[in-house]
Amino acid sequence: MNEKIARFRDMIENSDNIVFFGGAGVSTESGIPDFRSEDGLYRQKYKFPPEEILSGSFFRKNPEEFYRFYHDKLVLGNVEPNRAHIRLAELEKQGNIRAVITQNIDGLHQAAGSKNVLELHGTIHRFYCTSCGREMPEDEANAIAGVPHCVCGGIVRPDVVLYEESLNSRVLAEAVKYISECDMLIVGGTSLNVYPAAGLINYYRGGKLVLINRQATPYDSYANLVINEKIGEVFALV
Ligand code: NAD
Repeated sequence: MNEKIARFRDMIENSDNIVFFGGAGVSTESGIPDFRSEDGLYRQKYKFPPEEILSGSFFRKNPEEFYRFYHDKLVLGNVEPNRAHIRLAELEKQGNIRAVITQNIDGLHQAAGSKNVLELHGTIHRFYCTSCGREMPEDEANAIAGVPHCVCGGIVRPDVVLYEESLNSRVLAEAVKYISECDMLIVGGTSLNVYPAAGLINYYRGGKLVLINRQATPYDSYANLVINEKIGEVFALV
C-alpha cells in the first residue's frame, strides 16, 4: 500500500493536467450508498428493482412510485464531502487537477470547493417541469410529499439522467475533450459498468492511468496503477 501511495503521490506532483473521473464509490464515505457494493442500493428490496424505478419509462408511467423511492433514498439530508472530495478540490486550486468528471448526482464535489465539475448524470439539486421547462427550487420540490407539479400543471422532475435516457451531449463532448487531452487520469469509486460513462476511459491516451476502487473493475488490466482501497483514505495520504 505505502509503495503504491508513494507512486501515486509522485505522479500527481509531476502533473498539472490531471482529470479525475469518479462514481458512486466517491461518496460512500460520506454515507451515501452506491448501487453495486454488498450494501449498495441494488441489494436492497423494493416493490420494483431500483434500476427499473430509475428509468425514464418508469418515471413516465409511475411518477408516484418514483417519487416514493426518491424521497426514501435520494433526498440526502445532511451529508458532507469526505476527504476524497476535499483533496480533489485542493488539488484543483493548486493547479494539478483540470477537471472532475462525475457520474454522481449529489453535488458533493462542488460542496467541497471544486469549480470545474462535469456532471454526466445531472444533479438532484435542480428540478424542472417536463411540460414547460420552468425550473422549481429544490427546497420547494422536496417539500412536496408526492409528485411535484408546475404552475402550468406539468409534472416536475429532478434534472438527472435516468436509465434509457441520453447524456447531455455538450457535457459528454467536454468530458471527452478533457480526458483525451489530460496527461494523468485518475478513475475512482466506479464499477465501470454504466455506459456510455464507463467508455470515456477509452479516450485516454497517456501513460498515467490510476484506478482506485474497492473491488476489481473491467479496466484494471489497462491501468498503470491499481489501488484497491477506500478512496477517501487514499486521498488523505496524498
Ligand atoms: P456503482 O455502484 O456501480 O459502483 C461503485 C463502485 O465503487 C463499486 O465498484 C465499489 O467497490 C466502489 N466503492 C464503494 N465505496 C468505495 C470507496 N469508499 N472507495 C473506493 N471504492 C469504493 O457506481 P457507479 O459506477 O458510479 O455507477 C452507478 C450509477 O449510479 C452512476 O451512474 C451514478 O450516477 C449513480 N449513483 C450516484 C450516487 C451519488 O450521486 N452519490 C449514488 C449511487 C448511485
